[in-house]
Amino acid sequence: MSDSDLEPTRLHLASRNAKKIVEMERIIALHLPGVAVVGLDDVPAYDEPVEDAPTFEGNALIKARAGATATGLTTVADDSGLCVDALNGMPGVLSARWSGPPKSDERNNALLLAQLSDVPDERRTAHFRSAIAIVTPDGRELVVEDRMDGRVIREVRGGGGFGYDVLFVADDRPGLTTAELSREEKDEISHRGRALRALGPRLSAFLEHAAR
Ligand code: IMP
Repeated sequence: MSDSDLEPTRLHLASRNAKKIVEMERIIALHLPGVAVVGLDDVPAYDEPVEDAPTFEGNALIKARAGATATGLTTVADDSGLCVDALNGMPGVLSARWSGPPKSDERNNALLLAQLSDVPDERRTAHFRSAIAIVTPDGRELVVEDRMDGRVIREVRGGGGFGYDVLFVADDRPGLTTAELSREEKDEISHRGRALRALGPRLSAFLEHAAR
């Protein structure tokens, strides 16, 4: 029997951020062969857990544990955010809700620009972080993390990506915001792309004893 005859491994993707889901599905399709993503629309509705951990790893685990418990499926969740050096690493785990409810990328970006208005170019360094947690229904857990270094510019630019992409220029692609890169270019260098690619080689060993 060839690999292509094997049943795909069903992984529940526990995210309610539509643009993040698109990115993760795209990276998983390329780098985690044999995985079929089961989204929130494909499982009975369950309550969104409170993300109250102080770290990306902690919040990714909260989301993945909640998904695995509610669905009985091995569950993957990303927790991510932008850490700005001049703001002592904030917004960090608060990135999605930096300007308060309801969540708004536009207001978050406006607030970040205002907070950094007096910060000179050489001190506008920042990085994105992504923690990807995978949790099996029988409670086995794995977390991979990665980052993308860069800086925050002074005006929004670009129409791709999501969140703070319109304000972020990566050191690996100077001159363009990550919202101005193609999808493939962003995935190649992004915190999420790197973390998911790192998960790839570890996945089959991790899933060996997991329920499918
Ligand atoms: P989470 O869904 O609670 O992990 O929040 C992630 C938040 O971090 C998003 O809503 C964005 O504000 C920010 N963020 C994370 N990854 C990215 C990215 O790749 N580009 C831009 N913003 C991001």
